[in-house]
Amino acid sequence: MKDPILVVGMKFPNPQVFKEYLREFNVVHGYDIRYIRNESARIIVVCRHGCTWRIHASPFGGTTTFQIKTLEGKHTCERHYNNKQANSKYLGKNFVDEVRDDPSINIASFKKKVRREIMVDASRFQIYRAKRKTMKIIARDLAEQYHRIRGYEATVISKNPTSHISITTNPEKTEPTFEIMYFRLDAQKDGFLTGCRPIIGLDVALVEIECKASYSWFLEELMSDIESVEEMGWTFISDRRKGLVKTFAELYPTADHIYCLRHMYSNFKTKYSGCVLKDLFWKAASTGNVHEFNYWMKKIEKADPKTGNRKTAVE
Ligand SMILES: [Zn+2]
Repeated sequence: MKDPILVVGMKFPNPQVFKEYLREFNVVHGYDIRYIRNESARIIVVCRHGCTWRIHASPFGGTTTFQIKTLEGKHTCERHYNNKQANSKYLGKNFVDEVRDDPSINIASFKKKVRREIMVDASRFQIYRAKRKTMKIIARDLAEQYHRIRGYEATVISKNPTSHISITTNPEKTEPTFEIMYFRLDAQKDGFLTGCRPIIGLDVALVEIECKASYSWFLEELMSDIESVEEMGWTFISDRRKGLVKTFAELYPTADHIYCLRHMYSNFKTKYSGCVLKDLFWKAASTGNVHEFNYWMKKIEKADPKTGNRKTAVE
């Protein structure tokens, strides 16, 4: 809330909502408060630093609705940066988006963000607890999204009937648990088959376990969309995940399966580092003929003795 206000006569559905609103009001305006009475029959709150400001609220007409009955005096205190109203629960709830955007945010950066955005100086421990709370909220939101996945599927199919969505859940769990999803809109298929080169990059970023069953399931769903390898001559690019390489060899032995050089290089440099080898690696990789390729591979062999007993040339 940007500029919450308090006015005599304002009503709230219950005391809890009133107290949350009061917290928000005080954090935004930089006041700290103290509860004199905190009962279902009445709530009386004053300034923690002794100003004349005082608020009194109580039930309205015998219901749980709470109404502000009196609002007196005013604050003469300065903004307090260590505001007890901005506790870790409050910070956790109010900084969910920041943590969602950057889940690896560290305590110091989170602390700075809180200081900058709501002008509160929270302790490191408070920030730590706030971050744990936001992570819990995010996990709960995610679980909720997974519960809605069938509804999401139905909506897409009702608006775009020739789309292809497959979802599997784990039957061994007591309640259905999301396992894997294949998602393709109609326009994606049309666009790809009519206008694109026959190259498919596979970047399997999120799988429950990198197992053959997941890869075959995914590839079979994909192939049912794009027609056969023999007919279309697809070339696949992937990193060299063992499971994926094996699955390809078994399911589509005639498909061209090539490897992404960036992935290969990141593996290569863990064993053979240095600028010279990096340069040679890219020269070998980007050449267009066998003779040149063998030439650069020989250079790699000479540049690093560890490669000496490897088979580096192709016939
Ligand atoms: Zn005050």
